[in-house]
Amino acid sequence: MGLIVQKFGGSSVADAQRVMNVAQRVLDTYKQGNSVVVVVSAQGDTTDDLIEKAKEINPKASKREMDMLLSTGEQISISLLAMAIQKLGGNAVSLTGWQAGMHTDSNYGTSRIHKIMSERLKKELDAGNIVIVAGFQGINKYDDITTLGRGGSDTSAVAIAAALGADLCEIYTDVDGVYTADPRIVKGAKKLDDISYDEMLELASLGANVLHNRSVEMAKKYNVKLVVRSSLNHNEGTIVKEVNKVEKMLVRGVARDNDVARIALVNIVDEPGVAFRIFSLLAKKGINVDIILQSIGREGKKDISFTVNESNLDAAVDLLNEHKETIGFEEIKTTSEVSKVSIVGAGMVNNPGVAASMFEALYDANINIHMIATSEIKVSVLINEKNAEKAVNAIHDKFHFA
Ligand code: ASP
Ligand code: MG
Repeated sequence: MGLIVQKFGGSSVADAQRVMNVAQRVLDTYKQGNSVVVVVSAQGDTTDDLIEKAKEINPKASKREMDMLLSTGEQISISLLAMAIQKLGGNAVSLTGWQAGMHTDSNYGTSRIHKIMSERLKKELDAGNIVIVAGFQGINKYDDITTLGRGGSDTSAVAIAAALGADLCEIYTDVDGVYTADPRIVKGAKKLDDISYDEMLELASLGANVLHNRSVEMAKKYNVKLVVRSSLNHNEGTIVKEVNKVEKMLVRGVARDNDVARIALVNIVDEPGVAFRIFSLLAKKGINVDIILQSIGREGKKDISFTVNESNLDAAVDLLNEHKETIGFEEIKTTSEVSKVSIVGAGMVNNPGVAASMFEALYDANINIHMIATSEIKVSVLINEKNAEKAVNAIHDKFHFA
């Protein structure tokens, strides 16, 4: 018994039948004696459909109006779920982001929650209601609606769990939990019983696509116990928690990220300050750079290549070309036909053999590596996108997760 926050993703509430299933599940949790706050996403592909609708009217729509539009998807889900619970005889009330006191900054489309005024939430819980909150949205200091970025409902749920000091935050999705690799790509992928926040952060940002990475950051910061599980069955799911409680497996999982592009600046003058000029320029425009590789200098010239999110490729290239003279490069080469494949595990620190095994798996599969990056708990390689699935399988086989 306690306070539980349950988050249901778009696929879990995609149609009337599924909304009724979720309602039953929420009501069961409530009847076991828990206070329950539910956070829901927009039904099925609603958010994508809304984006398409906007494009038909104005492909350059302002971000403020986009947020106004996109927030409606979640508003449909919360009211339908409240109706469903009421139909089953439960007491439920739906709240939009602003009614629930979700205050954010003013970066429309990518807002961050800075505080939650939880009085209304508490009042409704005290009155015995199941409280259903629209995920992904908040309100800024101008009283305008904001959204948290695609997949942001996970973050709404964790933020509410942190603000209310919930005992547990359950993230319901259409898979059974966090796997050693994407089960749609790797046949032998296995569900993990538990995983540390840091490992999950790497997997989330590396394209494992289970949790919004800001939700994991927040769960770690406020020590919110997270469970990722399926809304379609009652299987246990994966617990995300502090590292010392997690068995230090060498490698926990293999992730793939296709949303990557590589930029190479060829024949740059080889002098101090070049890297600073390039990367401070990109940073100022908010363009995140990931793997960086610099060649050794020859005849006063060198090359620098690096990766960015595919969606930032055009902006980065335009920006670099504008500053071609001051940076001092001859040519810019780009490709988005690349993927980043990574292994993650808190136990790989001080284990040089791990990276070697990964490279061996790629060699055996005859896959060429373009770039390599390592940190304490991960090794990433950049390879051709067409080889990505084969690479994930080869690496997964190599570490044959027991
Ligand atoms: N509905 C939003 C999206 O599709 C938020 C979410 O699903 O978490 O990105
Ligand atoms: Mg999601």
